[in-house]
Amino acid sequence: MQTDVAIVGAGLVGASLARALEASGLNLALLEASAPPARTGAWDERIYAFSPASVAFLDALGVWGALDSERICPVRKMRIYGDNGRSRLEFSAYAAGLDALAWIVESGEVQRALWRGIERQANLKLLFPARPVSLEVGEHWASLAADSGEEVAARLLVGADGAASWLRKAGGFGARSRPYRQQAVVANFACERPHRSVALQFFRGDGILAYLPLPGNRVSIVWSTSEPNAEELLALAPGELAGRVAEAGREQLGQLELITAPAAFPLALLSVNSMLRPRLALIGDAAHVVHPLAGQGVNLGFGDARALAATLAARRPGSDPGEWLLLRRFERVRAEDILAMRWVTDGLQRLFGARWPGVAWLRNFGLNLTDSAPVIKASLVRHAAG
Ligand SMILES: Cc1cc2nc3c(=O)[nH]c(=O)nc-3n(C[C@H](O)[C@H](O)[C@H](O)COP(=O)(O)OP(=O)(O)OC[C@H]3O[C@@H](n4cnc5c(N)ncnc54)[C@H](O)[C@@H]3O)c2cc1C
Repeated sequence: MQTDVAIVGAGLVGASLARALEASGLNLALLEASAPPARTGAWDERIYAFSPASVAFLDALGVWGALDSERICPVRKMRIYGDNGRSRLEFSAYAAGLDALAWIVESGEVQRALWRGIERQANLKLLFPARPVSLEVGEHWASLAADSGEEVAARLLVGADGAASWLRKAGGFGARSRPYRQQAVVANFACERPHRSVALQFFRGDGILAYLPLPGNRVSIVWSTSEPNAEELLALAPGELAGRVAEAGREQLGQLELITAPAAFPLALLSVNSMLRPRLALIGDAAHVVHPLAGQGVNLGFGDARALAATLAARRPGSDPGEWLLLRRFERVRAEDILAMRWVTDGLQRLFGARWPGVAWLRNFGLNLTDSAPVIKASLVRHAAG
């Protein structure tokens, strides 16, 4: 088949790009290897903090309104603790004039809502299950053969196929990856005391622990820690793990009870020399992977999808969607956000991982100093809100 735009990967980022191109007048093909997980009623262990900008994007796609509001929790405040037991920094949505700093949502819920939209999208051909096996790029077309037997020739081929992107490798994109030698342990807990929609983050000697509020008296944790420490946490009995997490979180929410089995994800920093090659573009984790300490990976990816859709919508009617100068415009729009997020997340990770004398004092002093500077805090919140 011939199409205007083909997207590899219908994760949150690829699927949102497809939905954002519904009214573009372009024909689309979307290749995906696996369907979203079925709803089980249990709380998903993959939880995301969506920024207000991401929520506005999903709302415009008709996805936000389709989610079950009983499974979404706003973050009204965020409290960050340094590793000396005293320093702290607090952000408040109210002080920044926002309804919420972020919204906590289950990955599966959003994936399923996007998938339902894709299945009935008139300008889209969903190839599922399908994985590309070969790529050929010519002057006017990029062509794929899939393991399902289909062949797709597109004016523009977009890789939204995640951190281990096939298209990034097959397309010859230059990329740098640096493992953090850490894993993020995630799990959900019922808590004894109400969280009051406050997210907590603890910078600790053994890593960074975040408590994200879920509806009701529940929290989801992300504990980024060394590989041996993560393995030790995963091997604990449920009660022991709950005790360790409660203690690491200074028992701010009282006793915890594990409600979903823990899982762990290896962490790395990944960047590409360019998001573009002739006829090819990368978005989402295929183009950039950042440390989850700021909960911004998918927010960055939604920013890519929104910007690429807007760039394609603004082109001359009937013109080539894979035109190089058009795509360069998209890359320029995204460059600053991606660089800033990489710099902030990697910098904070190094700052709180450093063991040199004086650095501990400096980072904790920095937290308190920022806390006493309302103008800096408001500017940080506005930036994170997108
Ligand atoms: C522990 C942890 C916590 C996080 N918390 C947050 C958070 O709170 N907020 C936030 O913004 N971000 C967070 N992130 C980052 C977030 O998970 C990623 O940025 C996001 O999932 C990237 O989405 P994506 O669609 O680009 O890639 P993926 O989610 O990896 O999706 C890729 C899709 O492509 C498909 N695919 C892959 N290869 C192929 C192929 N060869 N052929 C066909 N299909 C293929 C896959 O099946 C999948 O559907 C967190 C990350 C971690 C590890």
